[in-house]
Amino acid sequence: MAINGDTEISARTDVGADEDGCTCAVDEHRPDLDDSHRDLRDDEFWRHVPAYAELSAAEFHDHRFQSRNCITTARKLREVLQDGASAAFYADVEAGVNRSTMSLRLSPYLLSLINWDAPETDPIRTQFLPLASRFRPDHPELHFDSLNEQADSPVAGLTHRYRDRALFLALDTCPVYCRFCTRSYSVGLDTEGVEKVHFGATLERWEQAFDYIRQHSEIEDVVVSGGDMYNLKAEQVELLGRTLLDIDHIRRFRYATKGPAVMPQKLVSDDDWVGAVAGVAEEGRRRHKQVSLHTHFNHPAEITAITQQGLNRLLDRGVIVRNQTVLQRGVNDNVAAMRGLILRLSYLNVQPYYVFVHDMVRGVEELRTTLQTAIELEKEVRGVTAGYNIPAFVLDTMGGGGKRHVHSYEHYDREQGIGVFTSPAVRPGQKFFYFDPIDELNEAQQTRWADADERRNIIESARQTVSR
Ligand SMILES: *Cc1c(COP(=O)(O)O)cnc(C)c1O
Ligand code: SF4
Repeated sequence: MAINGDTEISARTDVGADEDGCTCAVDEHRPDLDDSHRDLRDDEFWRHVPAYAELSAAEFHDHRFQSRNCITTARKLREVLQDGASAAFYADVEAGVNRSTMSLRLSPYLLSLINWDAPETDPIRTQFLPLASRFRPDHPELHFDSLNEQADSPVAGLTHRYRDRALFLALDTCPVYCRFCTRSYSVGLDTEGVEKVHFGATLERWEQAFDYIRQHSEIEDVVVSGGDMYNLKAEQVELLGRTLLDIDHIRRFRYATKGPAVMPQKLVSDDDWVGAVAGVAEEGRRRHKQVSLHTHFNHPAEITAITQQGLNRLLDRGVIVRNQTVLQRGVNDNVAAMRGLILRLSYLNVQPYYVFVHDMVRGVEELRTTLQTAIELEKEVRGVTAGYNIPAFVLDTMGGGGKRHVHSYEHYDREQGIGVFTSPAVRPGQKFFYFDPIDELNEAQQTRWADADERRNIIESARQTVSR
């Protein structure tokens, strides 16, 4: 190591002496940066919704009230909001719901957090209430079960794609229904255009999945998802958890749930359910196994004081909580939202784990972003806080290649909107494509994609640029 005066001086310069002679280590020349991620909403934000105007905090934050009063139809939305939105908006929602692949289900909590002065551009509205006027035509290469989960399923509702991990869909209902759901092939009620494959929470199907896991000793890790395990009873959470802990080769598993993001009240007051999760995690620790909870927050506005109160009950009991986010156009595809989300989650000691590029599912094209958006955002947010709290920006490849880091493409033609990835650890020798949304391309490229022969040419020449 060279220890001389020059090196020392230049090293100090790096720390921050600029033209003004300021030597502060922290950059104070970014007035756009602040600590607003710590200001968790603690007002009675529901009172501006006519149907909730008279509710006290105790009434509104009762988790039974929340789950019994979910908005499931456009008519119900109108009853609750009354003149809080325009007739044109209601008509737009109704037409949107009719065209949607997912059924409508929105908690009073989320509904109240929407900015009803500008619902068209609100990030929570965008995720849960479809507007027909915003629909964009699907990319011609999109499929329904875009991740090929059904093809990788040895048992109904169990996907075994990565050697040491299995994904178990424990049930097929959720506390809310997200427009962008990857599992629109199974989750929720059948809709106008979609008849779904159902995975009910039956003991018989669970036993088949447990048997498969028992027989495959290479599996060390299970993702318990759905649907959403927020909808499991405490006894089911416990049965599932203890069964997995009893399998010797299972070393860790996660319960994945959207619940804390959409109905945090349950964490505050459903003692049985919280007790079941925490009890399983404690039993796991006794056996030197790791049990964690994976949440699904997408925007800082979804996180309020009640969220912190709920999550603290898990932290109190030592449960590890991580978060997975879906990148969506008009929701969190800008630096302020993504930075705010990462800092706010970190502040609550929820570890931001993944940001997923929106899957190539049908019917939600206006929510997808280009790959370039994900790449740029990753660059912008890396460094804002501890490295272990910076999520990995990944793409879950269509066709079952698994998750790939957005920067790891083998080929990306931004003009044509096509990316090519490989996945040596999961499907060696295969190539996987990502297609940017058509409406983000220029007109000439849009015309090419509309033509079936041209389309094959684009894909073939992209494939050939990658030799491995
Ligand atoms: C995402 C996923 C997993 C878990 O992957 P991690 O990278 O460990 O989070 C397991 N199985 C399937 C099918 C998945 O999609
Ligand atoms: S909670 Fe999860 S599984 Fe359920 S609709 Fe939303 S994304 Fe899909």
